[in-house]
Amino acid sequence: MAVSGDPLIIREVLAHPLRARLPTVQVTSQGDWPALEIVAVEIRTESGLTGIGEVLGRRGALGYAAFLQDALVPKLIGRSAHDRRALWSAMRNTLTGRLGGMLVECIAGVDIALWDLAGQAAGQPIWRLLGGVGRRAVDAYASSINWADDARVEAEVASARAKGFRQIKVKIGRPLPRAIARVKQVRRLVGDEVLLGVDTNWAYDADDALLLGKAMCDQGYWFFEEPLPPDDHAGYRRLAQHLPIRLAAGESDFTAADSAELVRDHVLGLIQPDVARSGGITETWRIAEHAALNGVNYAPHVGWSGGICSAASLHLAAAAESFLTFECMVFDNPLRQALTVPVQGDVAGLSAEGTLAVPDAPGLGVALAPDALDRFRITA
Ligand SMILES: [Mg+2]
Repeated sequence: MAVSGDPLIIREVLAHPLRARLPTVQVTSQGDWPALEIVAVEIRTESGLTGIGEVLGRRGALGYAAFLQDALVPKLIGRSAHDRRALWSAMRNTLTGRLGGMLVECIAGVDIALWDLAGQAAGQPIWRLLGGVGRRAVDAYASSINWADDARVEAEVASARAKGFRQIKVKIGRPLPRAIARVKQVRRLVGDEVLLGVDTNWAYDADDALLLGKAMCDQGYWFFEEPLPPDDHAGYRRLAQHLPIRLAAGESDFTAADSAELVRDHVLGLIQPDVARSGGITETWRIAEHAALNGVNYAPHVGWSGGICSAASLHLAAAAESFLTFECMVFDNPLRQALTVPVQGDVAGLSAEGTLAVPDAPGLGVALAPDALDRFRITA
């Protein structure tokens, strides 16, 4: 409800479908990715503030933007951006089916922009509005070594180590013998001091994931991400029973409800929602808090998302009690590197301790780069 003098009455909402070609094609078990798409959201208030958000829509961003503009924007105009939960519910009620998919991804983009506005109005960074533990720097891991030939992997691992990373994630696919050889190769390359994770992007069934997981345990790996498709909860339970390793998942989920049972039962040791998919900061905070309640850790998924998602994720990492490590992408992605600029200071790089600094600026602490919308806009 708007109160007298509310500076955050929403005047206009814009959804910008964006695309960038990647300088280096990214290779996972799910195939090659030569280009990425997102939707950037701008919310403008009657008082002249602009908040920004991001929708994870790697393919079909034109469709996402049209849906957001058509179905969600009418629920927002004239309302107060302070009323985040009320607006979340109003947007959720756009569709009457089970909650998920494109609807929640579009809500995420709006919700991030609402938090950005709230921070700007309060003159405080979002991590402080969340009222969390207030980290000023967060541990970070290099993401990711590609599922590529041995020579490329050796070069990518060397590059991550040269940048100062002490934690590294490796993409792995099939066949199984090659996967097990990769697990051993990367451990040989980094020695015993580096924490290693594996991400298979659902490449396995439970039987083969057990074999791969045993090899990872033998090599002292740290976490095992998305070994199975996200809906195979029985398979995840079986792996948790037999593998002494932290199972990780959550980037494919939309809401706290999707992972609630696996977190409650500690089948997962690491929950990895992407704030631009999982309903924005409001729902991702709920996921992080639920993880804390159950002794499970939280690591933001950033993946192939853009600079707005990355900034929002850093605020959550700074605030969340359950936070473990931040996904720091090490390949060039123009939508992450050139979409936004800091509103004060410079982009902070990795410290000598392998951490990232958390910004002090109000709101997200980033704004759209002056030329970004023209540079990346998809035209039909
Ligand atoms: Mg992943």
